[in-house]
Amino acid sequence: MTQRLKDKIALVTGASRGIGYQIAKQLAAEGAHVIALARTVGGLEELDDEIKSAGGSTTLVPLDLTDMSGIDRLGGAIHERWGRLDVFVANAGMLGVLAPIGHIEAKTFELTMDVNVNATWRLIRSVDPLLRKSEAGRGIVMSSGAAHSAKAYWALYAASKAACEALVRSWANETMNTPLKVNSVNPGATRTAMRKLAMPGEDPKSLPTAREVAAKIVPLAFPDLTETGKLFDVRENRFLDYRDPA
Ligand code: NDP
Repeated sequence: MTQRLKDKIALVTGASRGIGYQIAKQLAAEGAHVIALARTVGGLEELDDEIKSAGGSTTLVPLDLTDMSGIDRLGGAIHERWGRLDVFVANAGMLGVLAPIGHIEAKTFELTMDVNVNATWRLIRSVDPLLRKSEAGRGIVMSSGAAHSAKAYWALYAASKAACEALVRSWANETMNTPLKVNSVNPGATRTAMRKLAMPGEDPKSLPTAREVAAKIVPLAFPDLTETGKLFDVRENRFLDYRDPA
């Protein structure tokens, strides 16, 4: 077991299943203490069992990300217990609904924006001062190819992910002269519950597993990372630069 994150503190949202679960597990295998957040206690406990039986350690945070003051309290609790945060993975997300833009119900639009965008901003606001206290703070925010393809019927999810990328790009510009590095990630189609919901007719076996995808994302948490404000494309296994539309 390599220990490239020995003694680091890592917060992972959406750690109860899918890509977030595997990122949490792999960060722990690299030596990080993982603060694992999601609503489903069963999923978090399964993660906890797996990490502990491999010799790692966790703190479980059962929280619904629509609870914005809960997010603020989490930042305070991390500050009190550790005084810093080294790695922040904003992975939790929801698909909302695939529908023509005029058919999306307001409550679905608002909930999806709350979980995908408002909570991501609120988390960034809460942990940014803690990440700045780390020698090598790393922020990883899960986006999607949908942010750029903006396909018909994907308006809600696409807009939410485009907003996340804009947040990360501004955050990177604000922290350019600090050790903090923050990037967005496009994991590509991955064999998870969310993908099944979006593409029920697809053979899941045709897609990479969450474990394979997580393995490409975890190095973005390492102290030797130099990139910031970019989009990491998992399929291409490289960072992409942003360019103005032309
Ligand atoms: P899953 O649906 O498998 O997992 C989503 C995770 O987010 C779960 O752990 C869930 O936990 C958590 N979550 C959802 N809503 C909330 C909430 N209100 N409060 C707290 N936690 C919440 O998704 P994936 O693993 O597929 O996706 C992970 C990320 O990758 C997402 O941001 C997604 O948009 C992105 N992505 C995924 C792709 C894919 O093909 N799978 C492609 C492109 C991007 P719980 O329900 O326990 O709260």
